[in-house]
Parts: sequence; structure tokens; C-alpha cells
Amino acid sequence: MTSQDDGAKPFRPDARAPRGFADKRARDLRAERRILEAVSRTYESYGFEAFDTGAFEYADALGKFLPDSDRPNEGVFALQDDDEQWMALRYDLTAPLARFAAQNWETLPKPFRRYAFGTVWRNEKPGPGRYREFIQCDADTVGSARPEADAEMIALAAAGLEAAGLPRGAYVLKINNRKLLDGLLDEAGVADPRQKLAVLRAIDKLDRLGWEGVQDLLGAGRLDESGAYTKGAGLDPAGQDTVGAFLDISTRDVGVLKALAELKLGAAGDEGLKELERIEAALEGLGVGADQARFDPAVVRGLEYYTGPVFEAELLMETTDERGEAVRFGSVGGGGRYDDLVARFTGEQVPATGFSFGVSRLAAALRAAGRDAAGDARGPVVVIAFDQARMADYFALAGELRAAGVAAEVYLGSSGMRAQMKYADRRLSPAAVILGEDEIAAGVVTIKDLDLGRELAKGVSDNEAWRADRPGQITIPRAELVGAVRRILEGAP
Ligand code: AMP
Repeated sequence: MTSQDDGAKPFRPDARAPRGFADKRARDLRAERRILEAVSRTYESYGFEAFDTGAFEYADALGKFLPDSDRPNEGVFALQDDDEQWMALRYDLTAPLARFAAQNWETLPKPFRRYAFGTVWRNEKPGPGRYREFIQCDADTVGSARPEADAEMIALAAAGLEAAGLPRGAYVLKINNRKLLDGLLDEAGVADPRQKLAVLRAIDKLDRLGWEGVQDLLGAGRLDESGAYTKGAGLDPAGQDTVGAFLDISTRDVGVLKALAELKLGAAGDEGLKELERIEAALEGLGVGADQARFDPAVVRGLEYYTGPVFEAELLMETTDERGEAVRFGSVGGGGRYDDLVARFTGEQVPATGFSFGVSRLAAALRAAGRDAAGDARGPVVVIAFDQARMADYFALAGELRAAGVAAEVYLGSSGMRAQMKYADRRLSPAAVILGEDEIAAGVVTIKDLDLGRELAKGVSDNEAWRADRPGQITIPRAELVGAVRRILEGAP
């Protein structure tokens, strides 16, 4: 018996996308592709070779996110293969690179310099600018311990951001070194791993909470506006002062390294500082200025992951949502040195450093800043379909335009002329081509200039000459079709 027979309503699922998974229309995709192309070109110009891996890795190869449980899908999306092995979707592009480098180290040119872009998946709580599926674009140098390799990542990040459409002053790359934080923790007498984590998490909130909030989190704890209480790291006042003196330096624009050198940060701190000094010297040679990158000891990133210099790309421009309200995006890119990732597989330390653009977030941020160049959006020329018997003629006409490099389509719906014109307008078509019975008989076509129509609708009145040149609708010999459409395409004001 079918569901109709017993009178029950057929099951109708709610049409909805899973949380954290975004549908992307042409405008979004165009923005992402522009970024990918610009950043890829930048990476290639620095000598990085293109590379990709599959979406899945064996879960044990991804390591860090996986709890010791039966179903290793915390942090990642995992499934069990028919041979019982757990596979997980890649959560970034670095872990698969480490696996590949470990597998092929003998035969690779060293250092191995590759760039990659693609979708990554994270099984975490989605929020604004935080997706469960998004695109990253990375460059990494595997097999170089030189701080200059780190400096190059910073230069690449700056060049990539500018190529993607951010002018100088609209972003800053913040640079720190995990070793300085390690030295600081030693000096503040923090040895317990859990307390270390709590201190670093507190430092990470300096931007958002200011020193007072951070100090609460370093000490007993903090009550936030929503009434939620976060237990503090339990650091004594002397320890808090040590961290405070360190974070004080974070507010400086210049002289950061000098000020850090005056603090006592132990052997780890000294080593970290020396690396930053070499990075500073290399940045000069790479042409990266203080308006693009600066040292900021408050930057904390990927705690279990990074072993040396770390970088973070932040936006400085104003961003607003559709309602015009200010929105804050997190970092649009980040990276650093990870010397242990390949060793997970081989036991052998392979020094590596890299940078990752959050392409999806950068695209959203560029849009929120009104810099997504959506004005370039262009639909195809639409050939109006009047008469079923003439479909072959319409297709031939569209083919002619395509052969000339002009995107064109024949209207394939079943509506009348008015609706077809409306359709062409909604597609942002530059022109509609009309080939009616009369036109076919006379060997002509009629072209309607839709760009003009849109400009007039916007009330453009200060472009008299442009309007005078464009009659809105022309009927011309069929042989002149391509030339006339091109003039419309090129003639936009
Ligand atoms: P990570 O791999 O965590 O170091 O992140 C590198 C960059 O990817 C970040 O700077 C973000 O721009 C971007 N990113 C990280 N997580 C997400 C997410 N859940 N949604 C969108 N972009 C993200």
C-alpha cells in the first residue's frame, strides 16, 4: 500500500543545507576563484609547485584531532572503510602534505616547496565566518630550518593578500615566536601543561578583552557579560606581572624586538628572539615594510602544532554585514613553523614552515568591505526563443556568438517574450538577441541593449554622449551580429 492509499501525507524533507555548509552562487564562486587565482599566481612566482592530495586520509595520519575513542570523528568527519580502517576528510592541507613528504622524502627535491588549494572539512561548531567546509590555499617549504624560509612565508602572505585585492594598510601580518612564549612560561614559573594552556589561552584574548580581562583569566577567573564564568590559570601576582610586562610590548608598533631583548626570557626566549631578528633582516631584503608586517608577542596560534615563528593575517578595514552592521572577521590567514609533523611518521625531524589563506573567509571579508568587485558580474547574451520550429536557428545564432568568445544561451523556458526579457535582465545579460519570423525573412537580427536599459533604470543622466550613441535596440544584417554585440559588451561606461 502506498502512502497515498492510506491517506498519510508523503514524507517531505525540509529543504535545508547542513549547518556550516554553504551554498555558493556565481558571485561567491567568482570571488573565491579570483582569490585562488591571485594567490596561486603569487605562490608560483616564488617558485612553489602545484600539488594536491585526495579529500580523505587515514584517520591515524591526521593525528592531532583524534581522541582515543571507537569513532574517531571528533574535530574531523570520519568513516570506516570496508577494510575496517578509519578514514577522515582532511581538516587542513598541511597534514596531507606531511604524510606525502614522509612517504616520498627520499625522492623529493629538498627543500620541497609546494602550494595547494582545496576544500577542507572541520567537524566543529559553526558560527559567523566559521564553516564546517571551506577552502584554504597554502604554501609550505618542507626541509628548511632557516628563519629566512619563515620570512618568505610572510612576504608571500603579504603579496597574496595584495594580489587578492587588499590594499596596503587594509591588513597586517602579525609575527611571533612560540619560543618566546615558552621562555615566558618558564620565567613565570608555569610548568604544568594544563596551566600552560590556560595562560596561552588568556594571552590569546588580549585583542578582545584587553589587559584587565586577560589578567583575570591569568589569575582566579573571569565573569563575562553573559554571566558565564571562566576559571583562571591560577597564576600568582608575580607571574601575572611577568606576563603583563611581556604583553605590554604587544602594543608597540616599533622597537618590539629591542624591548623583548630587555626582558629575561631564558634560553628558549633567546633562541626565539634570534630567529625573529633574522626574519626582520630577511623581510627587509624581501621588501616587506612595517606597514605590512609587525612583531606582536601576544599572537598565539595552534598550540600543539607550531614549534617556532608563527604568523597571522588580520584585516584592518571596516567590514559590515548586509544590514550595515559592523562585523569582525577572525584571521584571514595564518601559519608558522612546524618541525614535528613529518617526524610523526618517520621519527626523523624535518623542519617545515608554511602559510594558509582562509579563502572562504577572505572572500566573505572582501565582500563585507565592499571590495568583491561584484560589478564585474555578467550573464550570457540571451537569444530569445519565439517559435519552437525555429530552435535550430536560435542555436546556430548562439553558436556563432560562442565561437567569437561571447557567452550566449538560447532561452529554454516556456514563457513569452516579456518574461524572457525579464529573465535576461535577471541574469545580468548585456544583450538579448531577437530573431523573429520577419527578421529571418529579411536576413537581419534585432539586438536589445540591456546594459543601457539597466543604466537608464538606475537614473544615469550624466552620460549624455554614451546614451546618444546607444539607441537601445538595433536591427542589423545578420552578418554584423558579433560586431554589434561586442560593441555593447565593450561600450559600458
Ligand atoms: P588554520 O588551518 O586553523 O591555521 O587556519 C588557517 C586559516 O583558515 C585561518 O586564518 C582562517 O582564515 C581559515 N579558517 C580556519 N578555520 C576556519 C573555519 N572554520 N571557517 C572558515 N575559515 C577558517
